[in-house]
Amino acid sequence: MTPTCDKALGALWGLMAGDCLGSPIQFTDKDRHPHVTEMIPCETFGTPPGYWTDDGSMALCVAESVARLGRFDRADVGRNFVRWLREGFMSSLPQAFDVGGATWSSVAAIEKTGSLENGAEESQGNGSVMRLAPSWIAARACGRPEILRECSDLTHKSRRVRETVGRMAGILDELASSGKTKAVSAYATREDCNNSGWCVSTLESALWAVESTSNFEDALVAAVNLGGDADSIGAVCGQLAGAKYGYSAIPERWLAAIKDRAEVDALFRRFLAALGIPGCDAYPHPSLAADIVAIRTAPAGGDAPASVLLVRRGGEPFKGAFALPGGFMQPGESLEDCARRECKEETGLDIATPSPLPPRSAPGRDPRGWVVSCPFLCVLPPDGGAGIRAGDDAAEARWFPLDALPSPLAFDHAAILADAIRAMP
Ligand SMILES: [Mg+2]
Repeated sequence: MTPTCDKALGALWGLMAGDCLGSPIQFTDKDRHPHVTEMIPCETFGTPPGYWTDDGSMALCVAESVARLGRFDRADVGRNFVRWLREGFMSSLPQAFDVGGATWSSVAAIEKTGSLENGAEESQGNGSVMRLAPSWIAARACGRPEILRECSDLTHKSRRVRETVGRMAGILDELASSGKTKAVSAYATREDCNNSGWCVSTLESALWAVESTSNFEDALVAAVNLGGDADSIGAVCGQLAGAKYGYSAIPERWLAAIKDRAEVDALFRRFLAALGIPGCDAYPHPSLAADIVAIRTAPAGGDAPASVLLVRRGGEPFKGAFALPGGFMQPGESLEDCARRECKEETGLDIATPSPLPPRSAPGRDPRGWVVSCPFLCVLPPDGGAGIRAGDDAAEARWFPLDALPSPLAFDHAAILADAIRAMP
């Protein structure tokens, strides 16, 4: 079954997050490293927080090929692997790094002979499972299960790796469709978990981390803190936990720390759109909101200052704080229509011709998610705006003199108000 957009993006971004979170403690013995819960720099490779290693680079190579061609072509994926090894294509640094031995010799063989099946029976490293998510998604979306083996065989053609890839893909299927898996980790306790780069132990340790926790963040923290091949155990755990809990369950603070987040996200979405997975727009889009700065001008000759219309928020976030009236744009309406409707609903005020102010788009400006506000200014005469009454999700609606504003205002509304005052005629 093809995973949904949320589960597919979860597996892809889970892979990236696990690689980035685990790489700083890669090669350490279990518990002889700091307990990692945040993206931190990696001394081994000299990388800042949120830089992925070979796991992420190879997964991006697979996704880029499918996004560009609209189908899985193992020869083209092989050429991407060569570009990665030789030119740093899709690497977080200008060059490839953290390259496993079997992967190095296999990619060199692709370059030299064009061979699309590489790796000896004894090459049982985790180089295929660490990058599995894009080939798993392509295999399911195209109804071509052989894609799993074709992608893995490029570097790790051995019976053991093929079996492990098959087991992991089955677990991903179950987690993505029902949130549960019948598979049970070979490891019952943390002490049992082997943190080597063997494909079997990497998958079993990652599965243990998912089994023994109840959310994405705890699973990934449990996985990478096994140390050893921490980035690849993290990359595998991130795929499993991402398929189980979905993209929306990945902590935003981790995603925000990953290098080139917007470019990587756009690539993943083009990859999923190329495979026809519904709901994955090639170009990600924010929610749009309109906020209204209604200002009543000062009476001529008097001492009274101009005033602004504010509402006290009846719900979270910023419950109880004062804010500009406003809200989310609905399907079928223009921003101006949205501004008029929200102002009417929340305050009872009809605004005729709102004029636009600079949009506000700083990441994190709204704790509910990615929200861009398009504010509008509406200037009323000194006797305008009578008969205000709170409605919808506003607990109160009031005119405040500009020299006696409640503080602090919710969101970035103080900055929007400052823009409006500067724009006053
Ligand atoms: Mg790595």
